[in-house]
Amino acid sequence: MRTYTRVLVWCCVTALLLCTGAACGGDGTPSLMANTAPPTIRVRLGKPRTKARLLIPRQAWTLRSEGGGAYAVRGASTLKTTLGVGARGIVVRGSDSGATVLRIRPGSWFTLDGKSYRGTLIVRRETDAQRGARLVLVNELDMETYVAGVIGNEVGPKAEPATYRAQAVTARTYAWMRLQREGAATRAFHVYDSQASQVYTGMTFPESYGIDYGAMVRRSAETRGVILTHRGRPFPAYYASTCGGHTTEPETSGLDPARAREPLRGVPCGYCGTSKYFRWDKTFSDGHLESALKRARRPISLPVHNVEIRRRGRGGWVAEVRIHYGKQKAVRTVPGHVFRSALGLRSHNFTSIRRVRGGWRVRGKGWGHGVGMCQWGAIEMGRKGATETEILRYYYPGVGFTKVY
Ligand SMILES: [Zn+2]
Repeated sequence: MRTYTRVLVWCCVTALLLCTGAACGGDGTPSLMANTAPPTIRVRLGKPRTKARLLIPRQAWTLRSEGGGAYAVRGASTLKTTLGVGARGIVVRGSDSGATVLRIRPGSWFTLDGKSYRGTLIVRRETDAQRGARLVLVNELDMETYVAGVIGNEVGPKAEPATYRAQAVTARTYAWMRLQREGAATRAFHVYDSQASQVYTGMTFPESYGIDYGAMVRRSAETRGVILTHRGRPFPAYYASTCGGHTTEPETSGLDPARAREPLRGVPCGYCGTSKYFRWDKTFSDGHLESALKRARRPISLPVHNVEIRRRGRGGWVAEVRIHYGKQKAVRTVPGHVFRSALGLRSHNFTSIRRVRGGWRVRGKGWGHGVGMCQWGAIEMGRKGATETEILRYYYPGVGFTKVY
């Protein structure tokens, strides 16, 4: 386990967050001996659905209704059932339990629709005016186990331990900030299991990755409780797949700088040249451009006279694209990141936009929003022998490390 020289920078915020009753001294100073348990996080698994296959193999388990109803069942061996939507509540073990919230607690782990998870499964029966009643499935577990289930997906296979540890710290920082949001204690869930938050698949990684879950648990444990801070406060430690040679600042990507201009200011990256997304190009027609911008609520009309890169942000990432269009020769200026998402491009690090027959050709670099750690670069830095501290300090200049539990 590596030693973080600046790990114990107990800032005021952290002290307040950790100061819970008996764990604190009378002066509000947290005891370093107490509060060692990771916080609990709730992750929504997939999209709401009407059915889910649950398997708890060869363990004791309990099913209990929450917030009303008196359903309570326990068992000592395998539970195999299909969860469904009943007229009154959640269907489990072939009948309507009457419970609208069901807490399913396995001895150690469960399998849901083929993926295995540690922690507890919370099932909520929710009714949507358009889609009717559906099940919202939430995995409640401790932060360290959650981080272990994220890093294999976010880094992918065959990276060095230092890269997984760097990713563990950024993933934990993101999740920690979600837990600090107002009302987090009572939210049904804090994060999604997809790219909308961070990709989390419990104990099951894609088979082709060949990743050992136990190794991911160790990589998480080796950075246990450590998050990134700036001036002693947590900040949104954004990261993305491939920067294409330089990361950029949050504003250019439509993200919130949140008092962290220094660590998120954008740095040159000489490490992601081997990524297959380092360079790309895409061609689209005038008609496609018109419909894509309409969906993005930035409508134009045909014909399209010109599409030009108007302004660049840090590292050359495109801040603004200007489109000259229509019979009246109107002009529309669109943020680069909006243009990117409207057209489904890999990034808004465009090198050129050129007229081709019937449309436009965009050449660009990288994949993702370009802010914070370049994951491909972090993999290469790890291969060249960098430690997780060196990787994180490189991509987040001036960053500090705080151990929050
Ligand atoms: Zn890079």
